[in-house]
Amino acid sequence: METFRQDYSSPVTFRQPPDADWRHQASCVGVDLELFFPLGEGGSTLNQVKQAKAICASCPVNRACLDFALRTGLEFGIFGGQTESERRGTRDELNRRRLMATPISHTADQP
Ligand code: SF4
Repeated sequence: METFRQDYSSPVTFRQPPDADWRHQASCVGVDLELFFPLGEGGSTLNQVKQAKAICASCPVNRACLDFALRTGLEFGIFGGQTESERRGTRDELNRRRLMATPISHTADQP
């Protein structure tokens, strides 16, 4: 009978380039995350949103971040430079475009 032995003498490592995950390149790393989750309304909140959006605007991975937020349905916070209400608008627009691109199927029941 043939036996197989696994060599566990060397540690198993998973090699990934440091930029394999877009989050490693995020401009918000090290920034107080409360900035991206503004609460309330008014001048200080608007200023907070403006500051967070400025960071996102110069972030090299803002498209990936926005895509992630849209795909996963993140409800709160600023991601990819968009607030939650802006993302709702983007999501609605993408859904509208998808519907417009979907061919209308004809069934035998239709005249
Ligand atoms: S787009 Fe904004 S929230 Fe997203 S990773 Fe970049 S800085 Fe962070």
